[in-house]
Amino acid sequence: MPTAPERVPILGCPFDAVTFEEAASRIATALEKRELLHVCVGNVDMVMKTRKIPDFAAIFNDCGLVICDGVPVTWAAKALGTPLRGRVSGTDTVWECAAISARIGITVAMIGAEFDTTQRAAEVMAARYPGAKLHAFPTPYPLTEKENEKLLSTIRESGADMVLVALGAPKQERWIRDHLEASGACVGIGIGSAFDIISGKQPRAPRWMRDNGFEWLHRMLQDPARLGRRYLLEDFPFVWHIVVAIIRQRLAGSAE
Ligand code: UDP
Repeated sequence: MPTAPERVPILGCPFDAVTFEEAASRIATALEKRELLHVCVGNVDMVMKTRKIPDFAAIFNDCGLVICDGVPVTWAAKALGTPLRGRVSGTDTVWECAAISARIGITVAMIGAEFDTTQRAAEVMAARYPGAKLHAFPTPYPLTEKENEKLLSTIRESGADMVLVALGAPKQERWIRDHLEASGACVGIGIGSAFDIISGKQPRAPRWMRDNGFEWLHRMLQDPARLGRRYLLEDFPFVWHIVVAIIRQRLAGSAE
């Protein structure tokens, strides 16, 4: 019997120590067994947001699977003596969902982002995985309660088994918490900017940047006005919080 994947807390946020293949297999199994599964694609920005947004911290803790999409989070886990098993890219996970759809015939609903972007991402993935059932739904912005009811009924009519939600954090995680069951789907994943990247609207960081923890820099250079504040002001204190956590851990260890 395989043991349950270990959960590693980073500043109070649990991350699952899983490889990409294990995460993909958890998702496929939930779809096959029709188990409700909220997958969180976690990174530094989300950990920092949980410190300011209490309901987001609760959602993060309740997710059935939290994959680690941030290389700096993997460094923090290692420095705290509880290593994860590498990074699991959110964008690659979205590609994998298309592969799963083509393989086992499940239907994937894609909501959020700009509609032409989401539609293009569906086309690009269907071209790589023929037979994948990918449906892009226009998602009004802002998403009022009335518009959301309409959106939910169209998702239900599509027979979707999985919903990929691109509304940014924490909106996408709140949407999954509140509406996954009502959508008729069993797996929900908040996927941030993955449709922008897959559609080609936003260039993906080169591999060396992704592998070495510089994806945030690549994103920031694309959109400095919006993301400069996020990464430099809101997220940078992550480093200090981790340093403090390491010092506390060492002090507690030496006092024993
Ligand atoms: N987005 C949206 N509605 C919103 C907020 C964001 O459709 O109310 C989309 C946005 O267009 C983008 C995606 O959500 O395609 C991810 O947004 P963001 O870059 O803020 O998220 P991140 O990837 O940083 O979590």
